[in-house]
Amino acid sequence: MERDTYVKVAMLMKKEALKRNAPVYQAASYLKNKPWLRFIFVVLSSRTHDETTLKAVKKIEKLCNSWECIKQIENNKMAEILRGIGFHKQKVRYLKAIASKLKRNEVPCDYEKLISLPGIGRKIANVVLADICGKDVIGVDTHVHRISNRLGWVNAAKPEETEQQLYVAIPKKLWNELNKAMVGFGQTVCLPKNPRCEECPVRNWCKEYKKQV
Ligand code: SF4
Repeated sequence: MERDTYVKVAMLMKKEALKRNAPVYQAASYLKNKPWLRFIFVVLSSRTHDETTLKAVKKIEKLCNSWECIKQIENNKMAEILRGIGFHKQKVRYLKAIASKLKRNEVPCDYEKLISLPGIGRKIANVVLADICGKDVIGVDTHVHRISNRLGWVNAAKPEETEQQLYVAIPKKLWNELNKAMVGFGQTVCLPKNPRCEECPVRNWCKEYKKQV
């Protein structure tokens, strides 16, 4: 595929996700000027709907304005705040442990520092680096992995392979934005089960769709 076509398809996905008010963009808009809360959002967001994660982050925002404050919240109280978040008890421990290593509203923008923090692996680190730190990296989560394979941009069994193949296939100017565009598109159109292919603005460029018709 032409490199310009990747850009065109990615921008169509982003436009459609925004038009459909995808939760990832709602959260990004609310947290736009609040990087440390956005960081907490990313840490809490795995295996949880973005709407639920944002509600929990808003509760934290009402209580705290620094990592020092989070460190002092009792575990039971934090567990109550995070109720509804996937693996919420484990994430209470991660959040408190992260809070003990950071100051004020600090957000590390260094990959090695990020992955040294409890509960942060490659995916979360890359999303933080792209979304909060503005770096040109690709955060590959379940949406990016699924949609990249469906479109035929990669042919990969694991997210790590998808990430490596994307770096080779797509233009660098897409790296930073790709996660949000695909997450939003995956939340609204290219759903994990029963994707809305007949409503999809990029179906003409989709390997999976071409197999069906
Ligand atoms: S045509 Fe279907 S499978 Fe392909 S990107 Fe669109 S929604 Fe996803």
